[in-house]
Amino acid sequence: MRVYELAKELGLDSKEFLKKLKEMNFPLKSHLSIIDEETAQIIKDEFRELKEREISKNVVEVEFPLTIKDFAVKLGKKPSEIIQLFLKRGKFFNINQTIDRDLAINLAYELGFTLKEKVSLEEELLEKEILDESRVKPRAPIVTLMGHIDHGKTSLLDFIRKSKLTEKEAGGITQHIGAYQVEVPRGKITFIDTPGHETFTSMRARGANLTDIVVLVVDATEGVKPQTEEAISHARAASVPIVVAINKIDKPQAQPEIVKQQLSKLGLIPEDWGGQTIMVEVSAKTGQGIDDLLEMILLEAELLELKADYERPALGVVLEAKLSKGLGSVASVIVQQGVLRVGDIVVCGTQWGKVRLLRDDRARTLKEAYPSSPVELVGLGGLVSAGEKFLVVPGEKEALSIVEGRKQKEEIKATPQHVTLENIYEKIKKEELKEFRVIIKADTYGTLEAIEEMLKKIEVPSLEVKILHKSIGIINLSDVVLADASDALVLGFKVEIEPQAFKKAQEKNVQIKTYQIIYELISDIKAALEGMLEPKIERILVGRARVKKVFKLSKAGVIAGCIVEKGKIVRNLPCRVLRAQEVIFEGKVSSLKRFKDDVREVLEGFECGIGVGFNEVREEDIIEVFQEEVKTRRIQL
Ligand code: GDP
Repeated sequence: MRVYELAKELGLDSKEFLKKLKEMNFPLKSHLSIIDEETAQIIKDEFRELKEREISKNVVEVEFPLTIKDFAVKLGKKPSEIIQLFLKRGKFFNINQTIDRDLAINLAYELGFTLKEKVSLEEELLEKEILDESRVKPRAPIVTLMGHIDHGKTSLLDFIRKSKLTEKEAGGITQHIGAYQVEVPRGKITFIDTPGHETFTSMRARGANLTDIVVLVVDATEGVKPQTEEAISHARAASVPIVVAINKIDKPQAQPEIVKQQLSKLGLIPEDWGGQTIMVEVSAKTGQGIDDLLEMILLEAELLELKADYERPALGVVLEAKLSKGLGSVASVIVQQGVLRVGDIVVCGTQWGKVRLLRDDRARTLKEAYPSSPVELVGLGGLVSAGEKFLVVPGEKEALSIVEGRKQKEEIKATPQHVTLENIYEKIKKEELKEFRVIIKADTYGTLEAIEEMLKKIEVPSLEVKILHKSIGIINLSDVVLADASDALVLGFKVEIEPQAFKKAQEKNVQIKTYQIIYELISDIKAALEGMLEPKIERILVGRARVKKVFKLSKAGVIAGCIVEKGKIVRNLPCRVLRAQEVIFEGKVSSLKRFKDDVREVLEGFECGIGVGFNEVREEDIIEVFQEEVKTRRIQL
């Protein structure tokens, strides 16, 4: 290889290249000078290192999502240039499209830049969330009631609320603000008063993990029903502990023992049977057991050691929102951290404003609201939506800057694509997914079990197949909402899809796959996961040579003079060096010579000079050369 050829390969001007070579102690005379392969490799390595050092100095700050246009501007390039570069890599973008984070980082690197993500003001403010131990104090648990329809969630919520009002308050107004707080001797509890697992999970899909404890309400006369099972799956998917309220215990037909048995089968084993789940028998009609239930909720909460930082700028979540004629935008919120005060500047979604009024569920105006307390917040500039987070910022300037940033991002934000059979492999490769989560609905318990069994047998390294929920029946809204919040796939076998669920799935990019034949379901999943198996590399021996004499060449390092004892030695193939039958080096045949000539291969019985980039090679060492064959693997089911 000649100097100018190497310069070209490295994308450098040959004059400049010669100069640099001199500085690096490779004094080569002209651009026509010959460089042997090994020296060329050393030079290439050194240049790569040099480039890396330069790149680490060229830091460019960017914010994601990033459009092609902004990316180009940041790197001082024309957008068309960047689009061309992506085209060469088989990716088509238009100027306003956003680029994937990894892709941007890689291309920037090739162009000699290191991309650094800019920390936004918003992130900086949110980061303060990292609790400062000295300012942390306990907070009340936030509880959501879940369970099958008509099992008594609303009645329980009403009873608890009314029974805890003091005599004076009882005559006053109460208002619905999405949640309320009660106080018992052991402490305070916040109840979210829109019961049900769909609300719970849609909030979670928006990133609002508000609930600390789920109270699962089960009718003592009816027992476990489909929505009871759904509720359990939803709570589990969110890793929220469950306290069971066996309701309607006043009824003569009540059979709490049967309920306990049914729940045990689902993995909720009562404490008095040696399990972990607190179960309380209650009646929303007579009030029996309610105090006990509240006590137990607080006991469970103590185990969770719920705490909040009372001194940081407040933040929390919107439960409900409306526009009121007199007050303008009214948002019911729960404070999660900090203390929210009248006069604070608040950002919520793409709205902001100064807190003009704070009111609790008894319509009392407040000056401040503590962590875990629900309040009505008046003062935001416009309507916000449930599940949105709010954050107190230092001033109007900051509020405006965050809102502007969010509006821009909203324009370019696409609905996230959830896991699908087509993208799961990519997602896992990019480490976006550690588990393959599925929800299975089938027509009979038999098929449900058969599918579950087969899924469990799938063995793929670094991937766990997790069934978030399984039941018989139609694919419903609850399934899709759960899939959306947990990035899961819905698999249906001989079942239909509820129209509402279908619509939601389209809106949220949740994949629903339905099948009529089990074999097809399994083979589809197999095909999707097959890519996950790293191909196996098989080595086939091509030739073996024995080292007879070792030559030390100044630039090219050590060359082993060998005799080929078996097969043939081929340049560029992988090889290993053995001494006393032990492998002491692995590399590749980087140079191969017959006398003075470079050759591609040397056959059995002939002598040759082999360079493998290993300077410790000795006489009588064995050099073995291989061919590598890539074998794709198949999942066995
Ligand atoms: P939700 O759909 O779970 O909110 O259930 P509701 O609270 O609306 O209750 C459904 C029905 O059960 C209503 O007619 C209630 O009056 C009745 N109910 C609720 N709790 C009890 C209870 O503890 N005992 C009796 N006897 N009836 C109850």
